[in-house]
Order: sequence, then structure tokens, then C-alpha cells
Amino acid sequence: MTETLDIKITKTAHSRLNETDFNNLPFGKVFSDHMLVADYADGEWKNFEILPYGPIQMSPAISALHYGQAFFEGIKAYKHDDGTVSIFRPDKNAIRFNKSAERLCMPTLPEEVFIQSIAALVDIDRDWVPAKADHAMYIRPFMFATDPYLGVTPSATYKFIVLVSPVGPYFSKPLRVKIETHYTRAAEGGMGYAKAAGNYGASMLPGRKATEEGFDQLIWTDAKEHKYVEEMGAANAMFVLDGTLITAETKDTILDGVTRDTVIALAKDWDIPVEERKVSVEELVEGAKSGKLTDAFGAGTAATIAPVGSFCVDGTEYFLSDPATREFSQKVFTTLNAIKYGTAPDPHGWNYIV
Ligand SMILES: *Cc1c(COP(=O)(O)O)cnc(C)c1O
Repeated sequence: MTETLDIKITKTAHSRLNETDFNNLPFGKVFSDHMLVADYADGEWKNFEILPYGPIQMSPAISALHYGQAFFEGIKAYKHDDGTVSIFRPDKNAIRFNKSAERLCMPTLPEEVFIQSIAALVDIDRDWVPAKADHAMYIRPFMFATDPYLGVTPSATYKFIVLVSPVGPYFSKPLRVKIETHYTRAAEGGMGYAKAAGNYGASMLPGRKATEEGFDQLIWTDAKEHKYVEEMGAANAMFVLDGTLITAETKDTILDGVTRDTVIALAKDWDIPVEERKVSVEELVEGAKSGKLTDAFGAGTAATIAPVGSFCVDGTEYFLSDPATREFSQKVFTTLNAIKYGTAPDPHGWNYIV
């Protein structure tokens, strides 16, 4: 433990809490009263400040805008029945935050500083954490380069900002998914494992094409052969095939998801075999045909556990069982929620109480 982080706090004079419709929370559009901002300059992090949420002034030459030295994290805080607010596994995000920073030649943040920053902001805006089933407060920490310099070189200055946003459920129905065999999200040696802003910009055209074709999401395949499934949008793709939980192993093309890790831990608790390995499109097709593919879902903080209703490979669509009847993903969803909302014990110590 480091000593308590020194944060300057300026509270808003006009809370927007009472004007906010908590029955209508489109993802990522509603922000709380405050944000946290810190600066990196002269080789150190400084000026940690919580202030009213609002626009910030920047030079139009900042290198984040031109060369994409920018990345983010996504975490959720939950409200328990007794009013307790907990953040789910922020220690894992702190580690991944620094992996992204290193890949993009950006400064790291001590894990304890990362966690204390988000906890301080969640604490100040704790009344913004929705007290409703399947609702949460989405926490968006991010960092970007702020040198006003057009040379292609790592910036010497950065901003770290945390925003928090109350959210409802992300996907409401089983997903119709396209297995993408033309475009590539990440290649070996690239930065797929980082939550780099540019990865998501690059995914938008293939994503829009899939939407225009009537799909909800796409599942990326490997860059070399397009034979092995990798990830699904901003979620890891997980399957139950012949009683075994299978998912792509984490490597430089795969984002090491906290939800993925959590699902694997639960499967192990339940003595369900787990294989982290290459998962071929072919075996999924075979599994769909034979009925041995009993579960398929995306796992991510924003999407939680998002069932795949059908997947399409080069024009042929394969339909899976009704998600309501799927034993594994239903049990994961229920158990995970019970832990997050404090209605079940938390044997792994995943909840960070604010
Ligand atoms: C954020 C993200 C995930 C899910 O990670 P979680 O830590 O579970 O939220 C998976 N894949 C990609 C590409 C992502 O951006």
C-alpha cells in the first residue's frame, strides 16, 4: 500500500442527479456530476483533482488526436441492497491499464493510485450508482498524449481522466453474430491485447458492414488464416463444446478480459473442464450441427454475459439453443450478479468496497 493519494476536490454547486432519468440510461451517454483528472509532466504524475464533469481545453495539436497515443479501461461499480457500493476487480484493470500504457510508450500509473483514483470518484458520486437489477455505474479511466507537437514521437505529457456513467443492460436479446473472415482486428506483434483507442476506430467499418447485413455483432478471426475465432466486439468469445468451456488463449491479439478470467475461475470452482486454446470456426460449425455446442456467449464488463443466438460463416447461419435453457451461461450470469450485487458470498475477494 502506498500512502493515501492527495486529491484536490471541487464539488459541483449544481448536481444534475435529480434531473437524470434512471429509468432510461442509454449506454455511455449519461455522466455523473464529477470527473477525475491528473497530469503527467516532468516524469511524474501530479495535480490529481476531482472537479465538476465538463469540457476540457486542449491544443488542437495534441499527439493523441494525430497519432492515437490513447487507451482506456472499462470497469463497473454496483450498489448492494444495504447501500454498499463495490467495484468489481479493479486490481485486474490496473494491471491491464499498465500493459496498454507500455505498449503505447506511455507512462504507467502505480496500481494503488489507479484504484484510489477511481474509488475516490465513485465515492463522491456514489448516489449516481443505480440501485436496480442489471444496472451499474460504468467507470471509464483513460489516458492520452497531450504534447502539442506534430512529430511522430512519444509525448512527454499526458492526461489521465476518469469518468463515471450510470448504465442499464447493454444487450437485451440473443445476438446474431457474423464470423468475420475478411477484416482483421489484431495481428501477432500488433496491439490487440491493449485497450488502445485505435483498435476500436479500426473495428468500426467492419462493424458497420455487419450491422448493415443484419448482424448485431461480429466475431473476429485470426489475421493469418481467418480459421480461428478470437474475440467478439468488446467482449471475449466463450463457448461450451462437449461439456468443456473453451476460449482463445490470451496472447498479443487477444484482450485479457476480466470477465473472461472470472468466468474461467467460476468454471474451475464448478469442476467444469476449461481449455484456453485455438478455437477453430470448423469445430464450432461441427458443434452447432451435432448439438455439442451447448453455449456461446460474449464476456465483457459492458456486455456482461451476452448470449449468441446464431452465428453466420460465409453466408450460412447456424442456430443455437434458446439462451434461457443454457445451463452454463445462465448459472454464470446468475452467480456473477449475486456476487457483484452482494447477495452471495464473494469467496475470491472480487468486490472492492468503496
Ligand atoms: C474490454 C474488452 C474485452 C472485455 O474485457 P473485460 O475486462 O471483461 O471488460 C474483450 N475484448 C475486447 C476487445 C475489449 O476491448
